[in-house]
Amino acid sequence: MSHQVIYLDNNATTRMDPRVLEAMLPYLTEYFANPGSAHVLGARARKAVEDARETIASLVGASHPSEIIFTSGATEADNLAIKGVADACAEAGDHVITLTTEHPAVLEPCRRLEREGFRVTYLGVDWHGLVSAEDLESALTADTILVSVMHANNEIGVVQDVGALAAICKERGILFHTDAAQAAGKIPFNVATLGVDLASITAHKIYGPKGIGALYVGHGLPGHRIRPLLDGGGQELGMRPGTLNVPAIVGFAKALELCIEELEEETQRLTKLREAFLSFLRQRVDGVQLNGHPVRRLPGHLSLSIEGVEARALMEALPDVALSAGAACHAGTLMPSPVLLALGIPPDRASSTIRVGIGRFNTAAEVERAADRIAQEALRIRGRRSAC
Ligand SMILES: *Cc1c(COP(=O)(O)O)cnc(C)c1O
Repeated sequence: MSHQVIYLDNNATTRMDPRVLEAMLPYLTEYFANPGSAHVLGARARKAVEDARETIASLVGASHPSEIIFTSGATEADNLAIKGVADACAEAGDHVITLTTEHPAVLEPCRRLEREGFRVTYLGVDWHGLVSAEDLESALTADTILVSVMHANNEIGVVQDVGALAAICKERGILFHTDAAQAAGKIPFNVATLGVDLASITAHKIYGPKGIGALYVGHGLPGHRIRPLLDGGGQELGMRPGTLNVPAIVGFAKALELCIEELEEETQRLTKLREAFLSFLRQRVDGVQLNGHPVRRLPGHLSLSIEGVEARALMEALPDVALSAGAACHAGTLMPSPVLLALGIPPDRASSTIRVGIGRFNTAAEVERAADRIAQEALRIRGRRSAC
């Protein structure tokens, strides 16, 4: 059954690459020991973790492997960065800046900080989803301790100029965090080039296992420390206690390695598939609008509004294509996505928005077939509407 479904939801998660699974298997069976154990098997597991840490550190441009702190994913990394910095720097100031279009893994920790007495500025974005450097600059105050701006947006695919924004903060000695869950492994990503202090990454968006990610914590951070979310054993320099998930960590490193190796070729292939999908759909259906920036976007990502076609109705009519509505599901009702609304997209267009995420395992034939099916059902839904 599932093999008949065309999977175009690669920004929600990805199928694990068989090469990643292969790298992980020995650490699920033979080399199962706790990397904290003193015996020879523990040493074997520890070596695997440290090799993976070194690989990831070097692939993201960290200056030392100890700057990579393994977490359960980007949600935890975002929480650790935001709450950890707020806790550690509360004496220095009580102001945090982020965007209205951030992932809930950033927005919700910020809202919690507000409940605890911090002030948070949520910067708006333009029609393309980009924040302006001037807006950031004028929002900075003497009390600002942290700025968190995502690298690539999960819903609209837009890629922020993180390097320019981080430079503004660096000049003033303000810490800069980026949620790079959608960026690392998909577009060139390097913490040194970007000049960020903290960055969240995750494996399952890049053909690795779920439940593993990391927070890059730069050595330039004052005291090299942020306050941990959990208390326990001293793992991960005390910043993230708990027995390490060795197979997942090994898989994470392998997944990132493969993405970087294939980055250029895959970027070209996915961009071509994306453009083919869009032009094919537009040939068949009028009133198809692209949301977000036309060029500054993730290679395989499309956010499309199809005039007069409710995303929910379209998805119900398409059990054979796995895609995502550009809407968040709250208590069973489909609310227009706050991210789309933040761009200035009217609510009815927002409810007619789908997200297409083309990935490594999608073929040109699949992409064409999916566009064809979407066109077919969109026209059918429109026909039904105009008939009544
Ligand atoms: C997927 C995603 C997250 C959450 O990552 P998990 O590893 O699933 O916790 C956070 N931010 C962005 C931008 C994402 O796309």
